[in-house]
Amino acid sequence: MKIDTLCVQGGWKPKRGEPRQVPIYSSTTFKYETTQQMADLFDLKAPGYFYTRLANPTNDEVAKKIAALEGGVGAILTSSGQAASTFSVLNLCNAGDHVVASSQIYGGTFNLFAVSMKKLGIEFTFVDPDAPAEELAKAFRPNTKCVFGETVANPSGCVLDIEKWAKAAHEAGVPLIVDNTFPTPILCRPFEFGADIVIHSTTKYMDGHSSQVGGVIVDSGNFDWTRYPERFAGLVEPDASYHGLSYTKAFGKMAFIVKATAHLMRDFGSIPSPFNAFLLNLGLESLHLRIRRHAESALKIAKWLRKQDKVAWVNYAGLEDSKYYPLVKKQFHGDAPCGVMTFGIKGGREASIKFMDALKVIGIVTHVADAWSCVLHPASHTHRQLTDEQLKEAGIPPDLIRFSVGLEDPDDIIADLEQALNS
Ligand SMILES: *Cc1c(COP(=O)(O)O)cnc(C)c1O
Repeated sequence: MKIDTLCVQGGWKPKRGEPRQVPIYSSTTFKYETTQQMADLFDLKAPGYFYTRLANPTNDEVAKKIAALEGGVGAILTSSGQAASTFSVLNLCNAGDHVVASSQIYGGTFNLFAVSMKKLGIEFTFVDPDAPAEELAKAFRPNTKCVFGETVANPSGCVLDIEKWAKAAHEAGVPLIVDNTFPTPILCRPFEFGADIVIHSTTKYMDGHSSQVGGVIVDSGNFDWTRYPERFAGLVEPDASYHGLSYTKAFGKMAFIVKATAHLMRDFGSIPSPFNAFLLNLGLESLHLRIRRHAESALKIAKWLRKQDKVAWVNYAGLEDSKYYPLVKKQFHGDAPCGVMTFGIKGGREASIKFMDALKVIGIVTHVADAWSCVLHPASHTHRQLTDEQLKEAGIPPDLIRFSVGLEDPDDIIADLEQALNS
């Protein structure tokens, strides 16, 4: 089936007389007839549900849809995008291990890696995503276990050359994990360019209506863990907490996802509520229509903004003179990467604040990538403790406005921008 059909009909397949919409299995536990049946579930010998902290049928039906959209073999939903990033790394790394990551990633992910995971003994080397292959190769160490990047970075808008990063990872014998939140699989499918694992904050376009916080991990099934049994001992060697079961022997291409479920979900417990999975699925049913409209409107508005005298600069990879435009042409379906851009107002921090306060249709919220157009001013919000000088060092101009183009009529959005510029 084509991807638009998968958005609507992927995952849940109702049989005769069953509900058309995926049912919400709001149950912590599941009933069995014999002691042996339950014992087999605990040993991972038989498939089935027993406790929702590990797995839940509603969540699994929605995960199946996202796996199909990305072209993967399996997926697991998590309670947030942060939990998806955390699990994708912890499924491969122990204390003493090392990860190579793009320096252009979501601020929350950067903090997770540079501060929290460092405290757990996992070290990260951050590399400029545009660095030449030779420089990227130098970041690897004998204890490197994986590579992490973001297809379109939030908020910098940098586009990852997935093929270049996948090649560097594979030459070092490790997988590439890609955060594909901003384009969604409708506009870019990282597995087609060599990424091995994809994660998302489903909080953003996938949900698309600001109605739930969630995440997902998808495995392509392409990385052969058994080629490096010592490096990926957690997947290949016997797991003592499952009577010596080897995930790769028992589950083949599903090893990564089964381990994330049976080991990480069991121990760390970041499962989403089945009700949130239901809301996510409602969003997915129209993702293909929404994301294309977001991207199309963003391109139209970026071109308009650029022509305004009071606008200092516009950064959007869909503009033909963006240095990322060739990568957009190569890796994306369509001419525009997503609905999010950044721009600055002439007059710096003060002018940007004045402009934002004058907006009427576009909202001021700490969010991106949903139906409602919104703006955020990092110098006043997420990075408000920094001086103008420190902001510059962090690569965030004091006038930078992050702008997420919603699903309103683009002419109404332009009219709002225009009246705010004039005031
Ligand atoms: C929001 C976001 C995250 C974190 O997701 P949450 O669902 O807020 O935990 C991760 N990556 C990107 C690109 C994001 O935009």
